[in-house]
Amino acid sequence: MTDQFNPYEMAKEQLSDAVKALSLDERAYSILKNPMRVMEVSIPVLMDDGRVETFIGYRSQHTDVMGPTKGGVRFHPNVTLDEVKALSMWMTFKTQVMGLPYGGAKGGVIVDPKSLSEREREELSREYIRSLMSIIGPDKDIPAPDVNTDPKLMGLMYDEYDRIRGFNVPGFITGKPLILGGSLGRLEATGRGVVLTIREAVKRQGLKMEGLKVSIQGFGNVGKYTAKILDELGAKVVAVSDSKGAIYKDTGLPIPKLLQFVDEGNRVSDFSEAEHMEPMKVFEIGCDVVVPAALENQISGEVAKKIKAKIVAEAANGPTTREGDQVLYEKGVVIIPDILCNAGGVTVSYFEWVQNKMGYYWKEEEVNQKLEEKMVHSFDNVYRMFELHDVHMRTAAYMVSVGRVCEALCARGWIKDWSMPIECKD
Ligand code: GLU
Repeated sequence: MTDQFNPYEMAKEQLSDAVKALSLDERAYSILKNPMRVMEVSIPVLMDDGRVETFIGYRSQHTDVMGPTKGGVRFHPNVTLDEVKALSMWMTFKTQVMGLPYGGAKGGVIVDPKSLSEREREELSREYIRSLMSIIGPDKDIPAPDVNTDPKLMGLMYDEYDRIRGFNVPGFITGKPLILGGSLGRLEATGRGVVLTIREAVKRQGLKMEGLKVSIQGFGNVGKYTAKILDELGAKVVAVSDSKGAIYKDTGLPIPKLLQFVDEGNRVSDFSEAEHMEPMKVFEIGCDVVVPAALENQISGEVAKKIKAKIVAEAANGPTTREGDQVLYEKGVVIIPDILCNAGGVTVSYFEWVQNKMGYYWKEEEVNQKLEEKMVHSFDNVYRMFELHDVHMRTAAYMVSVGRVCEALCARGWIKDWSMPIECKD
């Protein structure tokens, strides 16, 4: 992340745009601009060599006016408090654009998880949960996977929570292994949601999925499943990058082979059946859709100027800067904003939580069908707003979600005399 880029400042500006576009009174902005609760924890871990190393972790809970707070936990050396605060705000607007009964939260630990042994990672995960016990729980704040955390770590965090409580509480965390009450379809849900929003945007641009050229930055869980599902639908994934390099093939990369290659522990940049290029070139190549699926702050104004695609599908959280946004808007590029584009993950997390509460589990087709209904419905709501008000797709998405939160704030008596514009209603 560069010095000038502050995701929390950006999140506040995005909120302010929506508050103005909805002619909301300033009280709404004052209430929503800060997370309701932030906790910083110091996590001592006994390292394999006998030393004790202390890691700093955070959990930010943005607002609980719509329900318990919800959001992932990331392990990354560049985690900052402002990043976690921004990500928790984005989670509120993500859950609300989807109409889920949650507010937003996010957690993070400043660590390079690859530098830890498996045992050290386990201890860090368990200790992180122990230190947050007073503010988390199935009806308070529900963690999930995020950057560099996965179902395996969710299983360990779940175990730690249950041991302390003394009984099983499967609804405490989502993205768990299936055997512990995870949901079918959760692992691929974010990628599946990304593809569904691309399909909806593509329809409105008069394009087709068959033969659609797509370039993807990042090949973690989200990038991989986005590529896999696009490939199955007949689209051509022409470029893919990871943090070390990128590969390109104009006729489409052989995605099943690439997935197998990466799953065997290899890097994208070592794949031989493609041309090789610098990672940031994925934004410059000629294609129909660009999918940033890595971290924040990737599409600056300069990068945006080089984008040739007609659609940018934000699979990552906060990948486009304010300047990048403006450049893309002026060029007429359609942005599928992060809070809508990557909302498939938290939506299936919600389904997991519902199944945990019922103690009754759905078939994969049922999960996928429910996800599709929600993604398509939310895309329609945002697109309607975009057309009616002639604003950025991002502002349109914020108008839907901020509108919902404000309706709740009004019903709770925190803001007065505001009623939801008719076009924000379902
Ligand atoms: N970390 C994911 C996100 O940013 C998923 C959160 C969840 O499932 O709660 O949306």
